[in-house]
Amino acid sequence: MRITVVSVHGCPCIQPGGTDAGGMNVYVREVYERMARLGHVVRVYARWHPDAIYDGSCRCYELVHIPVGAVNTPKENIPELLPEFVAAVKADAEDSLTKFDLIASHYWLSGVVGVELAKSWGIPHVTSFHTLAAIKRQVRPEEDEPEIRFVNERRIARSADGIVAWTDGESEFLVSQLAATRDAISIIPPGVDADFFNAGPDTKNNDGIRRILYVGRLDALKGIDLLIDAFAIIARLGIDAQLRIVGGGTAEEYRRVLGRISKLRLDRHVKMDGVLHQTELPSVYSDAACIVAPSFHETFGLAVLEAAACGTPAVAADVDGLRSIVVDRETGYLIPERDPALYADKIIALLENDELRKSMSSSARRRAESLTWDHAVDNLIGVYRRAVNAYRAVPVLR
Ligand code: UDP
Repeated sequence: MRITVVSVHGCPCIQPGGTDAGGMNVYVREVYERMARLGHVVRVYARWHPDAIYDGSCRCYELVHIPVGAVNTPKENIPELLPEFVAAVKADAEDSLTKFDLIASHYWLSGVVGVELAKSWGIPHVTSFHTLAAIKRQVRPEEDEPEIRFVNERRIARSADGIVAWTDGESEFLVSQLAATRDAISIIPPGVDADFFNAGPDTKNNDGIRRILYVGRLDALKGIDLLIDAFAIIARLGIDAQLRIVGGGTAEEYRRVLGRISKLRLDRHVKMDGVLHQTELPSVYSDAACIVAPSFHETFGLAVLEAAACGTPAVAADVDGLRSIVVDRETGYLIPERDPALYADKIIALLENDELRKSMSSSARRRAESLTWDHAVDNLIGVYRRAVNAYRAVPVLR
């Protein structure tokens, strides 16, 4: 197949873990690298941006940076650049004389582009939302998204030839709230590279420090305050452990998190690493007694799955995406309420009970081995092929 991938602000060569780059960037990189290695022609279109990484020669797919808008245009101003983005993609595809079979889009900004390109090229469009404004509104009403996003997510959900969702919950939401057709949706969870994320013999520090780990963007939806409050309970009980926070955010959010840590007099017990390159993460995961994910919502939660692959159990919020990774009381704990005491209780259990931690560690690894990128890519290729065949059999009247 010849696949055009549109990932307007989720370029696979941006370092994940900072303000505006995370699981989606990793997803695009891992999925399309594999598809290209399997022999498919893959061209990824992303908007240009500062600070490219992974831009080496080992990449198998083509990556085209579209120079529309200023290089560092903030995300909220990207919608107005989309018509120009569409025109630039069309010009590039015409220049290269490539005739694509399918458009895959990631996130609503790319969905808007995907709808236009599909109409113009007469090929099917398969989209993934990654996050939905209507779900964000439900879980964090105080941080509303612009109306243009709501309108377009509905439009994309109804017009795409296929939608790839990660979980049953996301699929139900798309049908009930965005009027998507159930038949258009395929549920394919993302994956992990279980060879790369693996607790090898050299991955532990062996420095005697017991670590509680957070890995993710410092974003309100991730609910880090709850973890800091749980850690304060643990510290007050005199239990010796370190809270390690990996990931970045805006300078303002970083300061706010540091302020909360100081206010609770936890400075000596907390280590904030900032953003780390993924190559550093296997040892960071392996070295922790548990990873904690107190998110208000997760579409999936790659960091928790990567930790599981390294044999690190999770203490996670009982929300959609995390529920599809963590098996409660087997690979970690799912916490039903946003109560720091409940989190502290389970974190302490994992810190203090070696047998429990070892048993959950083995189960977590097994769970991760069943959710690999290779498996996800096999299923995605099946969805793409079916979309292409169905479109050719009955071209949709647009
Ligand atoms: N990540 C990273 N460096 C960091 C923090 C995170 O490379 O300092 C990566 C992490 O390995 C994972 C991704 O960023 O693959 C975060 O994905 P997740 O689904 O957990 O969260 P999202 O960003 O999608 O909300």
